Amino acid sequence: MIVTLSETAAILASAQRIVITAHQNPDGDAIGSSLGLMHILRSLGKEALVLLDDDIPAIFSVLPGYDIIGRPEVERPVEADLLVVLDTATDRTGDVLKAVHAEHLLNIDHHQTNDGSAEYSYIAPTRAATAEIIYDLMHELPVHLDKAMAMCIYTGLATDSGFFRFSNTTSHTMRAAAELLDHGVEPNVISEALEQKPYQTVRDIGEAIERAELFADGHAAGIFLDAETTARMKSTESFIGMIRVIEGVDIAVVLKTKEEGICRVSMRSKGLDVSAIAVQFGGGGHTRAAGCTLLMSFEEAKRTICEAISQAIRAYHCQGAK
Ligand code: 5GP
Ligand code: MN
Ligand code: MN
Repeated sequence: MIVTLSETAAILASAQRIVITAHQNPDGDAIGSSLGLMHILRSLGKEALVLLDDDIPAIFSVLPGYDIIGRPEVERPVEADLLVVLDTATDRTGDVLKAVHAEHLLNIDHHQTNDGSAEYSYIAPTRAATAEIIYDLMHELPVHLDKAMAMCIYTGLATDSGFFRFSNTTSHTMRAAAELLDHGVEPNVISEALEQKPYQTVRDIGEAIERAELFADGHAAGIFLDAETTARMKSTESFIGMIRVIEGVDIAVVLKTKEEGICRVSMRSKGLDVSAIAVQFGGGGHTRAAGCTLLMSFEEAKRTICEAISQAIRAYHCQGAK
């Protein structure tokens, strides 16, 4: 059932014990919006905790509440009035749905591919980040914005908007960020913490760039990592940004082989709808950033995604776009 922003605030206000979760392989928005909402709810006197079914990258330790993020335990389920799923539909939350026995489920997300089929769904694709929706919600509740809330919400805003550079950045995003700065956020502290990379990761970026391939007549660029290479490279998040900038490239893709038969695909575009490609394979995302999982061998996955991307590019250029 689709609910409005004020109904979403009312659902939160009427619950006392609230568990918050977000997608696996959590990014700055998943973590920032979860912790931001946790701080908001705690300031209202509620019992709120964050459970994420994955490791949390250490760069996010700059955020207040990082240390108390828990993992779901199916053997020791948690009772709650409300489970809130952020920054994804309920499908990418791992064991959380099994490990939390909640009376109600609320899904808050900004992905255009979210079908709004949760018990309560508030989906706002015009917001750059789920954290931007958390900011909107804060103004619907009797909350005094503090530095902890502001740092977490800012991190979600900044990371999902490419530090206010991507096309999803609006004047509302900027106004929200301005208010967060007025409440103690130091942008340099957050960006410097998030930029930190181990020496080996910087070396891996070098190797990944060496491996980059152009296809679709130079309109697409990809980095394709087999199981051995994926296992060796610990952090691959920054690879796609490196090839997204290549002149003439409409779509950038990174394929990782989690294990033989399970390949993760990330795509970025400069306007072409990559979420439509991801949806063909059961994934989703946004027009310019989307992903999916291909249950096939490395070679087959590489061939499949390259064909789908090439076809989307051909259709795009046939429509007269350049
Ligand atoms: P990334 O490439 O950073 O993993 O994901 C890009 C965008 O697509 C993110 O907004 C992410 O939430 C979404 N996305 C990535 N993988 C999937 C997937 O398997 N399913 C869905 N529904 N969305 C995805
Ligand atoms: Mn996310
Ligand atoms: Mn997001």
